[in-house]
Amino acid sequence: MATVGASSYKNYIAGEWVDAAGGDTFESISPANGDTIGVFPKSSAEDVDRAVEAAKAAYEEWRLVPAPKRGETLFRFAQLLTEEKDELAELMAREMGKVLPEAGGDVQEAIDMSFYMGGEGRRLFGQTTPSELRDKFNMSVRMPIGVVGAITPWNFPIAIPSWKILPALVCGNTVVFKPATDTPLLGQRFVELLTEAGLPKGVLNVVHGGGGEVGERLVRHPDVRVISLTGSRETGVAVLRAAAEGLKHVHLELGGKNAIIVLDDADLDLAVEGIVWSAFGTSGQRCTAASRVIVQRGAYDQLQQKLVAATERLRLWEADTDVGPVINKGALEKIHSYTEIGKGEGARLLTGGEVASGNGLDSGFYYRPTIFGDVDADMRIAQEEIFGPTTALIPVADFDEAIRAVNSVKYGLSSSIFTRDVNKAFRAMRDLNTGITYINAGTIGAEVHLPFGGTKDTGNGHREAGQAALDVFTEWTSIYVDYSGKLQRAQIDTEEHPSP
Ligand code: NAD
Repeated sequence: MATVGASSYKNYIAGEWVDAAGGDTFESISPANGDTIGVFPKSSAEDVDRAVEAAKAAYEEWRLVPAPKRGETLFRFAQLLTEEKDELAELMAREMGKVLPEAGGDVQEAIDMSFYMGGEGRRLFGQTTPSELRDKFNMSVRMPIGVVGAITPWNFPIAIPSWKILPALVCGNTVVFKPATDTPLLGQRFVELLTEAGLPKGVLNVVHGGGGEVGERLVRHPDVRVISLTGSRETGVAVLRAAAEGLKHVHLELGGKNAIIVLDDADLDLAVEGIVWSAFGTSGQRCTAASRVIVQRGAYDQLQQKLVAATERLRLWEADTDVGPVINKGALEKIHSYTEIGKGEGARLLTGGEVASGNGLDSGFYYRPTIFGDVDADMRIAQEEIFGPTTALIPVADFDEAIRAVNSVKYGLSSSIFTRDVNKAFRAMRDLNTGITYINAGTIGAEVHLPFGGTKDTGNGHREAGQAALDVFTEWTSIYVDYSGKLQRAQIDTEEHPSP
C-alpha cells in the first residue's frame, strides 16, 4: 500500500483551482492494490454555494453563445479525449479497477458522446406548425434551463459524466459537477480536458466530496434548476424528496436487476459467451450487468455445465486479466453477504462464492465470479441488486414463464433473449418491460445515439443519451408571431371563428 507522495487536487470553481473552504480532504484509494491515488478536497455547502454562484453568473453569457460554437468545444474535447485515451484508461484501471480494454471502452463512449452532442449544436431541432389564424406563424424552440447539478457514480467514471455534462453544455446550460468519491481523479481529468477544449470560466465547475454534504446541498440549492443523478435507487429516492420543495427537474438513472433469457432453441455457445461478458464484465458492476439467467428446462443442464466451465476459466487481476477488483471493501462485504443469503435461501452455489486471495490479490478487493443454480425467481438473490460478479440461474418451463420472471423485479433497465425463433424474439421485444432489450446478445452494449435508461424503479421516466437527453436539459418555449397588422384574438368565439 503506497500513500507517500500522492498528489493533492482541488475543486474547480469560476475558472480557479481552489481548496475546500474548510480545508478538509479525503483520499482516493485503488481497489486493485490499496494505493492512494490522490488527496481531494472534502467540500461542504459553502463550496457548493460558490460553485453555483459561478455557474449562475456564467450562464448569462454561455446561453447566448451560438449552439454550433458550443458544439465545436465538444468536438475539441472529443479530440483531446482521443489523444489522452490510453492515459485515461490506465488511470481508470488504477483508480476504479476496470480492466484495460473495458477502461478504453469507457473513454471511447465519452468520445462518441462528445461527437454526437457536438453535432447537436447544429440541430437542437424545434418545430414549426400551422396557426389557427391567418397571417400568423407558430414555432416551438428548445431553451436552456440554467444551472445543472450533475452527480455521478464510480462505475463509468468518464462515460457517465459525459452523458450528463455534454448535452447540458451544448443546450446552453452551465454545470456544477460532483464526481463519486471513489473516482475523483477521473472526474478531475474530465474537467481539465473539457476546460482545455475552451470552456469559458464558470461554465463547468467541479466540487469534490460526499453525497451527504456536496450532493445534498447541490440538490437543495435554490439556483440549481436541474439535477441529473446516476446512482442507487435509495439515493434516487432521497434526491427526489430533497428536490421536491424546489420543484426541480430531476433526472434519475438508478439500479438494475437485468436478465438474460435462454430458450431451448438458442445457440448455447453464443449464449454462454453473452452471459459471461454480461455477468462478469466490470466485475458485475455495470448497471446493465446480467445478474439473472432465466433458462428453459430443456437447455438448463447443458447451459449450466458450459457456463460454469467458461466462468472458471476467467483470470482475475493479471497483466491480461478478464475480471478486475470490485470498487471497495464495503462492496466486497455486500457481495459476500449475498452469497450467504443465497445459500440460506436454498440456492445451489455452483462456483465462486468467496473473496479471491493469494497471487498478489490480498491488498485489493477481489471476488471470485459466482454462479448460483436452481434459483427461484422470488429469492432475494434474484430480486435485489448485488452489483458484483454474482449471477443466478433460474429454470423455467416455457417462454411465458421466462417473460414473467424477467418482469417480476422492481427494476427495468436491460434484458435479453437468446432464441432462433423470430416470433418469440418479437414477442419478447413487446413483452419485456425494460428500457433496453437485446436479441441474441448480452445485456450490455448500449450505443450513444439511442435513449438509455429503464422502466419502473430504474428511474423516473427520463432517458439519457440520444435525442432523449435533450428533453432533460432544455425546456420548450412556444412562440406565436402575428404578422397580420391587426389584433387577431385566439381562444375566443368570434364570427370569423365560431365555436364548433
Ligand atoms: P450511489 O447512489 O451510492 O452514489 C451515486 C452518487 O450520488 C455519488 O456521487 C454519491 O456521492 C451521490 N449521493 C449519495 N447520496 C446522495 C444524496 N443524499 N444526495 C445527493 N447525492 C448523493 O451509487 P454508486 O454506488 O456510486 O453507484 C452504483 C449504483 O448506480 C448502482 O445502483 C447502479 O445500478 C447505479 N447505476 C445506474 C446506471 C443507470 O444508468 N441506470 C448507471 C450506472 C450505475
